[in-house]
Amino acid sequence: NMIVRMFDVYKAYGKTSAIKGVSLEVASGDIVFITGPSGAGKSTLLKLIYKAEVATQGQIIVDGMNLSRIGSRQLPELRRRLGVIFQDFKLIAGRSVFDNVALVLEAAGEKPKIIEKKVMSVLRTAGIEEKARVFPPSLSGGEQQRVAVSRAVVGSPRLILADEPTASLDPDSAEQIMQLLETFHARGATLVIATHNRRIISRLKGREIRLERGCVKTQEISSDHEVEE
Ligand code: ADP
Ligand code: ADP
Repeated sequence: NMIVRMFDVYKAYGKTSAIKGVSLEVASGDIVFITGPSGAGKSTLLKLIYKAEVATQGQIIVDGMNLSRIGSRQLPELRRRLGVIFQDFKLIAGRSVFDNVALVLEAAGEKPKIIEKKVMSVLRTAGIEEKARVFPPSLSGGEQQRVAVSRAVVGSPRLILADEPTASLDPDSAEQIMQLLETFHARGATLVIATHNRRIISRLKGREIRLERGCVKTQEISSDHEVEE
């Protein structure tokens, strides 16, 4: 039961090859850490999965959708199945915390009553329900990231992608964000987290896929039978 499959994927930006022949699988329910030095291709790998970038070559299947075969009309369908979290939060400054999180459900055409209930429920889980009417710029970094996690999970996506989610946070806030991600993993989401923070990797029981210069350097196959290449 694979939620992400990549076969011999390449991504070039002009003359720069960011991803070079990557094949990998992520099973439903996995926690996968994408690691490697800066410039190794971690961000690009995630961008390929949510189709912010298009592979130069190779096949990518996400939750049964072949990304090279889906057009712009099916892109919202793909994005609804994913939650994405960024290092710099990417919240809308001019909208309240509630509205930032509600936007996903509004776009999906949910009824206002359901939206109110789901948004408040996820903000409660994230420990920021009392900030619902506040605007993001008045929150700490850790609080803003909790809003971003709330936004990513409110539509109950099967897959959560996080690109250096703790890189701009202090250690305590980073720990809270990882705990929060663990909570949503326990509720059934698959996590793919790009990071070079060894400490947060050791906190969660996941497997590691290490990239170097766009190639998979080492890959732990699964928690049952770990294999070093
Ligand atoms: P990481 O997330 O591991 O730091 P990235 O995926 O951001 O790595 O970058 C991989 C390589 O691709 C780097 O050499 C980077 O400079 C290059 N790169 C990333 N995005 C772009 C882009 N939009 N245009 C050109 N080069 C890019
Ligand atoms: P990240 O490592 O998370 O991609 P960066 O600060 O490296 O963050 O990149 C910020 C933006 O610039 C991203 O959209 C990335 O794709 C793009 N980018 C990264 N490297 C390059 C590059 N060498 N040339 C052009 N754009 C780049």
